[in-house]
Amino acid sequence: MRSPGVLDVDEVDDPVLPKGGVLLKVQACAVCGTDIKMLEAGHRDLTYPRIPGHEVTAEVLDTDSAMVRKGDMTQVWPGESCGSCVHCRSGNDHLCPKVRIMGFNTDGGMAEMMAVGDPSRLVPIGNADPMMLTLAEPLACCINAQEKLRVGDGDSVLILGGGPMGCLNAFLAKRRGADSVMLSEPVLERLRDVPKGLFDRLSRPKGDELAEMVKCGTEGRGADVIIPCTPNVRLDHSIFELMAPGGRLCAFSGPRRGDSPLPIDVRDMHYRELTVVGSYGNGSRHGREAVKVLREGSDLSWLFTGKYGLEDVRQAFGHASGRTGQKAVVTF
Ligand SMILES: [Zn+2]
Ligand SMILES: [Zn+2]
Repeated sequence: MRSPGVLDVDEVDDPVLPKGGVLLKVQACAVCGTDIKMLEAGHRDLTYPRIPGHEVTAEVLDTDSAMVRKGDMTQVWPGESCGSCVHCRSGNDHLCPKVRIMGFNTDGGMAEMMAVGDPSRLVPIGNADPMMLTLAEPLACCINAQEKLRVGDGDSVLILGGGPMGCLNAFLAKRRGADSVMLSEPVLERLRDVPKGLFDRLSRPKGDELAEMVKCGTEGRGADVIIPCTPNVRLDHSIFELMAPGGRLCAFSGPRRGDSPLPIDVRDMHYRELTVVGSYGNGSRHGREAVKVLREGSDLSWLFTGKYGLEDVRQAFGHASGRTGQKAVVTF
C-alpha cells in the first residue's frame, strides 16, 4: 500500500531474524474490513508505504528464542506493546499508549515472510487449518466487544451488518448463551452460505422493517445488545429506540469521519439505564481465547467465500470491498 487507493505486488528484501525474535513463513492472511477502509480512505494508525495484513497465521522459519521452535505453526497477535505500563499489566495491552499494530504501523502478513521481534505475540495453533485460524484476530475483536457488552444468557442481540464481523459476532453471542440473534443487512444475498440458525431473524434496514423485526423478536421489549458491524450505520437516537431498558450498545465498527460527533439523548440513557461502550481491536488475551475457541473445531469454512494467491491480492481486496460475499483470504 503506497498511498490511499494504491496497492501493488512487488519484490522486497527478505526480513532478517530479529535478536530474540522469529522469522515467519506466512501461511494465510485474510482481508479485513479495516484493510479496505485503509485502502479507500487511509486510517488513523496507518503510515505508508506499508505491507498490510493483520489476520495472519504462519510457520516459524527461524528462531532466536527458546519460546518457539522451527516448524511451529502459529497465529500472530497484531499488537506490539510495551509490556510494562498499567494497560499492558491489566490485560488491556491493545490500549498501551506505545502499541504499534502490524499492517498499520509495521509491515503485516500480505507477504511471504515476516519478522516478529517479540515471540510472546505468537499463539500456537498446532495442526489446525491455518486459513481457518486467520479468523482468530477478527474473533478476538468480537470477544473484546462482547466482554464489554456482557453478552450472556437470555440476551437478545441485534447485529447491524451481515458481513464477516456480523457473522462472527452472531457465532460468539450464541456461544455465550444469547437467546436470539437478529440481523439487519441490506444485501440478503450475501448470507447465502451462512448456516441456518446463526441468525434467528433477518430484516433489511429499510423503513420500519428493522424496528418491526426487533419488536416481534423481543415481545416489544427491544434488543438487550446492539452491535453495529458496518460503518454504514450512524449511532444516533434511532438506534437507542431499538434498545430494551438496560440495553447495551457498542461502537464496534469504526465510524466514518464526520459521523462521530453525535447528539446523544442523555435523559434516555439515564431513565432507561442504557450503556454505550467502545471497542477497538483486541488484547493479546482475547487473541489467545479466540485461538482456543477456533481450535475446538467449529466449522466456519463457509465464511471464506474468496481464496486468492498473493499475486491476486488486488482481487482479494476487491472481493472484500464488494460486500457481496464474506471473507477473502490470501493463502501461500
Ligand atoms: Zn481485522
Ligand atoms: Zn504498555
